[in-house]
Amino acid sequence: MAIATVNPATGEEIQAFDPLTDEEIDRKLRLAAETFREYRNTSFADRSRWMMRAAEILEEEQEELGRIATLEMGKTFVSAKAEAVKCARGCRYYAENAEKFLADEPAELEGAFVRYQPLGPVLAIMPWNFPYWQAFRFLAPALMAGNVGLLKHASNVPQCALKIEDIVRRAGFPEGAFQTLLVGSSAVQAIIDDPRVRATTLTGSEGAGRQVGHEAGEQIKPSVLELGGSDPFIVMPSADLDQAISTAVTSRTLNNGQSCINAKRIIVHEEIADEFQRRYVEEMQALKVGDPMDEGTDMGPLAMPQLVEDLDDQVRRSVEAGARVLTGGKPQDGPGNYYPPTVLTDIPEGSPPRTEEFFGPVASLFRARDAEEALRIANDTPFGLSSSVWSNDPAERERFIDGIEAGMVYVNRMTESTPEIPFGGVKNSGYGRELSHFGIKEFVNIKTVWVT
Ligand code: NAP
Repeated sequence: MAIATVNPATGEEIQAFDPLTDEEIDRKLRLAAETFREYRNTSFADRSRWMMRAAEILEEEQEELGRIATLEMGKTFVSAKAEAVKCARGCRYYAENAEKFLADEPAELEGAFVRYQPLGPVLAIMPWNFPYWQAFRFLAPALMAGNVGLLKHASNVPQCALKIEDIVRRAGFPEGAFQTLLVGSSAVQAIIDDPRVRATTLTGSEGAGRQVGHEAGEQIKPSVLELGGSDPFIVMPSADLDQAISTAVTSRTLNNGQSCINAKRIIVHEEIADEFQRRYVEEMQALKVGDPMDEGTDMGPLAMPQLVEDLDDQVRRSVEAGARVLTGGKPQDGPGNYYPPTVLTDIPEGSPPRTEEFFGPVASLFRARDAEEALRIANDTPFGLSSSVWSNDPAERERFIDGIEAGMVYVNRMTESTPEIPFGGVKNSGYGRELSHFGIKEFVNIKTVWVT
């Protein structure tokens, strides 16, 4: 894939970038390794000060950051600015808490304790869908822990990638503490193999996860994989139906339907299913799809033409298998990668909504006779990222919290990624955790010390 800025709302190529040569990559890896030797000795106070400054820059420059993200990947300008502000929150959270999270930890033996130390340069391979947040939720803990970062961002968001490097540098971090590598995915294997790189993290698709996980394993380097999801959103009769319906709409269409934690499979108890379906479809139809720069737009275009093709193919195969389209169902005509809010129902066993991730605004509605059937449908997927459960019955809630095979369960609220709580999945959604104190401990040496 070419490294380029292409406006998803028009299809116009704005700017293309040359990928780094092997020599340029080598220079950057050398700088990362050299910087690490000094950087690991910097104090938490210094790192904290720089991270706080990064937070200020993110807030001060949210308009410009928002414009770049909208131009490169099509999310609404409103949500792109909010993303920059959220990154500031992530920076402040780790600036304030990293020292506490990584303080020496006494063990239950006299004289024994654990010291957390950085590993070295960590390669982060990131997706375009939250072009700032994905990168900052890696870099804030990694840099606060004393590691240095290397970012291989998705090829369609090079300006966001360069901007992130620029913010970190202007915040005061030493040259080389965080570098963007403008490279395609074919360059990744050699970078993981390079002995100067000590660990890797990938947020992206299952396929990319398999390859990066394989390579990291081959090199015996720690890795974190944050992969796709097909999150269930379960609604039981005791739920607040108004809130459940509007949240199910937001949660499916947020970020133009391109989030790993969008509510993709909506499982409703049969007692309330007719009313839920009617109102859900109405609310999906009422969304305003259009220019992402326009303040009144709910959903902009998908990030790349290929995503529209893939989604179209998935919907066609679902319909061939017997699913019914309640609204939407085919790409919009005209320029730009627009796909309308779509709702499928009567989803047959083994059809794409049950086995694949739909990375666009297509919701699949399921009906369940009772909590046990809802749970069975929820778990009938190769993925296990997050889930949302709507119920006011304590026993039923407990059953779902306990029984859902996912890294996260949100009750009577939408799934979200926020600095204070761990984020990550099970099954084909990956392994490892980001955020909270768990996230900062993914890339540290848990060094055992026992002094007699
Ligand atoms: P993607 O195609 O896997 O790309 C993600 C990143 O991996 C990009 O930087 C890409 O580079 C790189 N890449 C792709 N194939 C690779 C390979 N074989 N070896 C090494 N690197 C490779 O994913 P996407 O389409 O951009 O993002 C959507 C996916 O990410 C969805 O499945 C979504 O659910 C998932 N996601 C998960 C989370 C989470 O936290 N669990 C969060 C957000 C998104 P190029 O752009 O150069 O190809």
